[in-house]
Amino acid sequence: MTRSAALNSNCHAIFLGTGTSTGVPVIGCDCPVCTSNDQRNQRLRSSLWLKIHGLSLLVDAGPDLRHQALRENIRSVDAVLYTHGHLDHVAGFDELRAFCWRRDRPLPIYANPGCMNTLQSMFAWAFSPNNTHGGYVKPDPHIVRDTFFIGPLRITPLPVFHGTVETNGYLFEAESQKKIAYIPDAKVIPNDTIALLQKCDILIIDALREQPHPTHLCVEETLSIIEQVQPQQAYLTHISHETNHQDLESRLPSNIKIAYDQLTISLDL
Ligand SMILES: [Zn+2]
Ligand SMILES: [Zn+2]
Ligand SMILES: [Zn+2]
Repeated sequence: MTRSAALNSNCHAIFLGTGTSTGVPVIGCDCPVCTSNDQRNQRLRSSLWLKIHGLSLLVDAGPDLRHQALRENIRSVDAVLYTHGHLDHVAGFDELRAFCWRRDRPLPIYANPGCMNTLQSMFAWAFSPNNTHGGYVKPDPHIVRDTFFIGPLRITPLPVFHGTVETNGYLFEAESQKKIAYIPDAKVIPNDTIALLQKCDILIIDALREQPHPTHLCVEETLSIIEQVQPQQAYLTHISHETNHQDLESRLPSNIKIAYDQLTISLDL
């Protein structure tokens, strides 16, 4: 097999979770979505698993990480990229232990300065110089503001506004691969980030629900972002129990789908 053929094979993005911070169903809720038999209405907390050129990358590590990793049989992780410090994206930090046990070196984690601060105060023991016990998470922190590389993968942070929390999406580019952008939490996408999104083939973006929300994009706002970016394919994520998958998707243009847990996108061109 030639090098380029090897690089091309089996690159995927897998949705580990597509729900908002409560997950769907919501505890104790009897609404039609929470009680739906449609599997696509059952949503763990939002996270994406990228398998690109032999790398295994997590975007966010929320409170459902253990369940997600067992379900998808994730056996190793080469790096974790965090979008922001909200609990639904960071609360699975301690589950990263199992991946650290099978590594020779600390686990690289990437985050903006605000999110890294949150991680370091929330999980201080892991970042402490006294963290010498073999059983704990051993993070290798990288604060990112500009484009960086993990192996052959070019990754660009995409700053967005999401309430008061410093938040990134990420754009992933690799040779012979579709360019994919992931923005699970946002209310406003600044113009500089819209410009960076112009080259993405696949856009995965927050669309919490149809009704407006103070810190998340609602469906109408998300559709206007997609209109500006014109990706080949867009996927809505970070969905609340106010959205019924079938009902909303039937009203969307064909290049816009609603993501659901375990949906797998091929990134090969
Ligand atoms: Zn969130
Ligand atoms: Zn409900
Ligand atoms: Zn958030």
